[in-house]
Amino acid sequence: MLSGQELSRYERQLLIAGWGKKGQERLKKAEVLVAGAGGLGSAILIHLAAAGVGKIRIIDSDRVELSNLNRQTLYSINDIGKEKAIAAKDRLALLNPDIEIEALAELITEKNVFDLVAHYPIVDAMDNLPTRYLLNQVAVSRQLPLFHGAVYGFEGSATTIMPTQTPCLRCLYQGVLPGEIPVVGVTPAVIGCVQATEVIKYLIGMGELLTGRLLVYDGLSMRFSEARVKKDPNCEACGSSRPFDVGEKNES
Ligand SMILES: [Zn+2]
Repeated sequence: MLSGQELSRYERQLLIAGWGKKGQERLKKAEVLVAGAGGLGSAILIHLAAAGVGKIRIIDSDRVELSNLNRQTLYSINDIGKEKAIAAKDRLALLNPDIEIEALAELITEKNVFDLVAHYPIVDAMDNLPTRYLLNQVAVSRQLPLFHGAVYGFEGSATTIMPTQTPCLRCLYQGVLPGEIPVVGVTPAVIGCVQATEVIKYLIGMGELLTGRLLVYDGLSMRFSEARVKKDPNCEACGSSRPFDVGEKNES
């Protein structure tokens, strides 16, 4: 049940057709994992917390640096040197004390990824492909939704992965590893908001998800376009051979 304070806090979104108190209660009961509290993570976390997602688990092993502040809008100069997961939790607690935030300042590895993800829907706000693949592996193995976003300069892309129903991340990307990514803060803000919108819709059960489609954003020409994404029958993660199933069996 929603308290008087919650009804007041969420007043404007409760007015959205198809949302209402029932939708808000669904959000309140929901749990989500946000992997990465950087540029994408800043936009995603602020909006999931503001909208009232009941429990958010944040994972990030980095500390805040001055060079993060052009895009990681969760943080201020007072946070430099602090663990991002902890600083993010402190910031979000000021925004919305009615939700639960769990901060894990841990590096995601092959060994801990299944424990860290548990049963949570996964928001992929990482900045590197190997960790994204680990998250994808858990999503496929446990059939958890994976809300993916990526940025480069003024460009970005996003898609929503529902294992078994849609192509997975490995169907999309074939192991290209860029180094330090150029980026201006508005780009992860745009893409992070797309991801957060998808999460909210999924949790409430409204609208049409970005499944089987890659949304592509070009900030310089200010165009959004869309590409159909196809399942790769030989995909290492979700194809018929699926060698990554072995990872979870070994662990348990
Ligand atoms: Zn796949």
